Amino acid sequence: MATYVIVGAGLAGAKAAQTLREEGFDGEIVLIGAEDERPYERPPLSKDYLQGKGEREQIFVHPPDWYADNAVELRLGLRVTRIELDHHVVRFGDGSRQPYDKLLVATGATPRRLPGPGSYLRTVRDCEALKERLAAAQSVLIVGASWIGLETAAAARAANCAVTVVEPEPTALNRALGPDLGNLFARLHARKGVDLRFGTAAAEITEAGVRLSSGERLAADLVVVGIGAAPEVGLARDAGLDVEHGILTDAALRTSHPDVYAAGDVAESFHPLYGRRLRVEHWANALHGGPAAARSMLGQEVSYDRIPYFYTDQYELGMEFSGDIEGYEEIVYRGDPESLEFIAYWLRGGRVIAGMNVNVWDVVDDIQELIRSGVIVDQKELSTG
Ligand SMILES: Cc1cc2nc3c(=O)[nH]c(=O)nc-3n(C[C@H](O)[C@H](O)[C@H](O)COP(=O)(O)OP(=O)(O)OC[C@H]3O[C@@H](n4cnc5c(N)ncnc54)[C@H](O)[C@@H]3O)c2cc1C
Repeated sequence: MATYVIVGAGLAGAKAAQTLREEGFDGEIVLIGAEDERPYERPPLSKDYLQGKGEREQIFVHPPDWYADNAVELRLGLRVTRIELDHHVVRFGDGSRQPYDKLLVATGATPRRLPGPGSYLRTVRDCEALKERLAAAQSVLIVGASWIGLETAAAARAANCAVTVVEPEPTALNRALGPDLGNLFARLHARKGVDLRFGTAAAEITEAGVRLSSGERLAADLVVVGIGAAPEVGLARDAGLDVEHGILTDAALRTSHPDVYAAGDVAESFHPLYGRRLRVEHWANALHGGPAAARSMLGQEVSYDRIPYFYTDQYELGMEFSGDIEGYEEIVYRGDPESLEFIAYWLRGGRVIAGMNVNVWDVVDDIQELIRSGVIVDQKELSTG
């Protein structure tokens, strides 16, 4: 009987296990996770769940019995320390081993850190600890005005804390959305009373707050660092798999070894539509990439070409983003951005390469179809619908 091993019991890993069974795989499935919790989804950790809304049980990918019911051996609190490609085994810290016929690496990413203490937000434990600290804090300093930083700022305001955000870029979400839409988020937070300081880099977290690169010190009861995450590529690199920013895969999510696959945050996969490799650190990529890798492991023909998709909720702003803004030349709006009910389209060469719907719903399929089609659009039509 074949044994398929999945290292990393996050969303990508759990969804891969589910797909293996749904597609009729009747061999052994071993899902190994370093955390103590069964697979769960991370988006609520900086949104509802952090704000004390919603039940803990709602964050999990599957009910507790699902693993036994589907003959998925879930091994939690266990870290794989080595992959031995030639022997087809993974090893653990105590020297014990788990053989595999095929292996999926879905080890996700880990927050980038600054020197000194400080709170980080990746796991449900981080979230629950942060929720308590927010309840006790008067002042919160957030390092990083990207998704996690801004969502945490919204949660901290909801907890009635005074909030300061420091960010070295000229505005919020500058790399993800560009300055125009980044400013929109910055203004929203400013209206909610957040003190945003751009062009300001934190060098070190201290017991009393933050020391900036300029030498200036900012005091706060609580410092939360959200400066991005680094893919967990160590295992793959040490094993000799091809790794650049992430674990390199083709469009079928196959790594440089024929029996090893990668999916989710850790994978840097060739994207047929973009004609280059992308590493996508978004929930939807784990949700769909895990299953795609599973089908590929089963020998099905797979060309994973989902358009990157992301969503966020901050105060009264809910949005969905599709595509990639790289190289954009202009933005066309349908609706007034100040009304917080609009669609923004990023264009390059007259074609839509990315779209963001803010408080406008059920349009993602249309936006993605527009991106996928690569047609030159009539801008007037685009802006009026
Ligand atoms: C707070 C937060 C909020 C987010 N909000 C959004 C959002 O609103 N929208 C959105 O699109 N995306 C969001 N994301 C991103 C999204 O959650 C990730 O893209 C997604 O979790 C990636 O899933 P994954 O399975 O690839 O990796 P992960 O969820 O990181 O899971 C990987 C698992 O592998 C384990 N692991 C690592 N190494 C080993 C090892 N050697 N042995 C065993 N286990 C190992 C890790 O402990 C981890 O549990 C958010 C992320 C965070 C942290």
